[in-house]
Amino acid sequence: MTESTRLYRNSPVSLPLGEIQVHVISDGVVWWDGGGMFGLTPKVLWRRVIQEDELNRVPMMLRTLLIRAGDKYILVDTGIGDKMSEKIRTQINLKGRDRLLTDLAALGVRPEDIDIVLLTHLHNDHCGGNTRFDASGHLVPTFPNAEYWVQRRELADAMFPNERTRGTYFRENVEPLMETGQLQVIDGDTDVVPGVWTTLTPGHTASHQCVVVSGGGEHAIFLADAVSWGVFLERLAWVPAYDLEPMVSIHTKKRLARWALRHDAWLIFQHDARFGVGKLEEREGRYHVRPLDDSRSEIIPGG
Ligand SMILES: [Zn+2]
Ligand SMILES: [Zn+2]
Repeated sequence: MTESTRLYRNSPVSLPLGEIQVHVISDGVVWWDGGGMFGLTPKVLWRRVIQEDELNRVPMMLRTLLIRAGDKYILVDTGIGDKMSEKIRTQINLKGRDRLLTDLAALGVRPEDIDIVLLTHLHNDHCGGNTRFDASGHLVPTFPNAEYWVQRRELADAMFPNERTRGTYFRENVEPLMETGQLQVIDGDTDVVPGVWTTLTPGHTASHQCVVVSGGGEHAIFLADAVSWGVFLERLAWVPAYDLEPMVSIHTKKRLARWALRHDAWLIFQHDARFGVGKLEEREGRYHVRPLDDSRSEIIPGG
């Protein structure tokens, strides 16, 4: 049995932070090239973390957050969605449709209930679910009543991609939201509702942002692609090949690690195939991520 014939399943996890509920849900799993994910790190090292399949691909979770704060439903990122061709679906070994909407429905939440969609950045695996094709084949917002919040600079970079970024910045994820007036541009660290805010964490892209939730004396941070796997915080030199400014990524990771230790914060890892939530510890000058057991991925033989 090869690794890609195993199915991975995210364990849904809920973190209560005082009055605010944080649910870690997902848009499924994709399989991407291990070299892209682990960058300059030699394969003999990264394959101790995750096994590649026969095409050198590694599983990558597409976690998102549903935050219930006051009377608002806030969704953080929308996954990769279902607009891609069958050929691409096969290339990335994507199984099933409406995965994120299914997870939302399990929590009793309909697409029209979402008030705000916070976008960490506009790479396709984070915002492909922004829009979908309706029954007549028209491109429409997936969340019809939501404002979609995006950083001004990230939007500019996505609308005018360069040779390196045009493979992941797609106008179809953004333009329908402009037409309906649902796109909201923010600039820098931004308060969303009391206890929820975004903070700039550059490196992966110039205006990448993380989302922080604070309540009941506890803190959680959705790290998105600033630290997409726990091991990237344990080994600061490990930086994905996708990061546009690797040294800025390392600086951002140092800052995030110090913040996480100081606040004993829950860390939410968007793509880590082993676990979704953990806490950072420092032992003899080295960082270690202790996984929340309930957030470990189940690996199901078969497929
Ligand atoms: Zn990204
Ligand atoms: Zn990503």
